[in-house]
Amino acid sequence: MLNQSTHHRLRHFCPSNGKHACRQPIRWHYYLPMALQFGLTPNTAPASEEQLANILADPGFCDYYTDHMALATWKDGEGWFDDGIVPFAPFQLHPAAAVLHYGQEIFEGMKAYRWADDSIWLFRPEENAKRFNQSARRMMLPQIPTADFMTAVERLVATDSRWVPQGAGEQTLYIRPIMFASEAYLGVRAAKVCTFCVIAAPAAMYFSKDGVKPVDIWITDEYARAGIGGTGSAKCGGNYAASLIAQYEGYEQDCAQVLFIEASNKDRVEEFGGMNLFVLKDGKLLTPALTGTILDGITRRSIIQVAADLGIPTAECRITPDDLYSFVQDGSITEAFSCGTAAVITPVNAFKTKQAQYQLAQPLGAVTMAIRERLVGIQFGHVEDTHSWMQRVV
Ligand SMILES: *Cc1c(COP(=O)(O)O)cnc(C)c1O
Repeated sequence: MLNQSTHHRLRHFCPSNGKHACRQPIRWHYYLPMALQFGLTPNTAPASEEQLANILADPGFCDYYTDHMALATWKDGEGWFDDGIVPFAPFQLHPAAAVLHYGQEIFEGMKAYRWADDSIWLFRPEENAKRFNQSARRMMLPQIPTADFMTAVERLVATDSRWVPQGAGEQTLYIRPIMFASEAYLGVRAAKVCTFCVIAAPAAMYFSKDGVKPVDIWITDEYARAGIGGTGSAKCGGNYAASLIAQYEGYEQDCAQVLFIEASNKDRVEEFGGMNLFVLKDGKLLTPALTGTILDGITRRSIIQVAADLGIPTAECRITPDDLYSFVQDGSITEAFSCGTAAVITPVNAFKTKQAQYQLAQPLGAVTMAIRERLVGIQFGHVEDTHSWMQRVV
């Protein structure tokens, strides 16, 4: 076996004409980009079985992190190197690291599910890899090949598989890949040194650990999270920073989430701070169309498919705030829910604005719950996975 640094050096010494006398096992380096291995450096002080049992008995939402993390570094002109699964530890970051100043950063959110037979699965992980690279492009961060992204996630989950909870109460291992500008440089340009990292943490249900509970939604007409041409469709930390003030406005109204309206014309509802929106109008499932200002959620896309499988008609369209209010009021919109990886599907009880409150007729609606049950069923292996969405890791 070659160690990581040998691997790295060989990439630069092997000329592309194939004449160089590389040793036999690495001949493929002549014509294939080097796949990252994410070799393991074991944590010599992992959580004890007793500590882990206590954590898994009440994991909260990402209150504890696993024993390891995946790490790789990228340098302009060199590509990715120093990849590995290493002991979980804080970063040493230069105070001039560009991410701390200019927010050049992206992330992903995905989950590992333990099935009844103890096998462990990911849900549509390549979609996360693809979106990660789309976000990277928008934020001038480097691309990471899908295969390398997948190796990092799979090897981390396999290494820390004892941290994946039993599926009771929809508990999962939440996985968080990130990439950020780690170069120490205060000039404004795309960083020439970046860090890729994947961490993981056991997670109970996001909003409520005692089952699905409808939540109230605050609709802000003052703050926006994204605008046309902005970063709304990239999964970057800045979008979340921009959404927090409205989130806290919502908390003051006893609302768990905030729904944002398109910023310039205020003529379409878009999405929540970190989740997409669906409403059920006259038996048809509607979701705001992707306009570049909305995050293209994998849960959103999967729900459109699951609804079709259940024979529920769906449409991606424009939903104006006035339509939303009047259709909830006249009873043609009966159900609404938010969706995303972290909270799966959370039903809406009521929409609140500064002026009024709009109570849903069926806050724990039958259609919402049927879609939820089918999607979660696929993820935990209780429902047949007809679209080959699940990928086995262990
Ligand atoms: C991550 C995210 C979502 C949900 O995407 P999923 O792929 O379903 O997890 C929705 N909106 C925003 C702003 C997000 O960041």
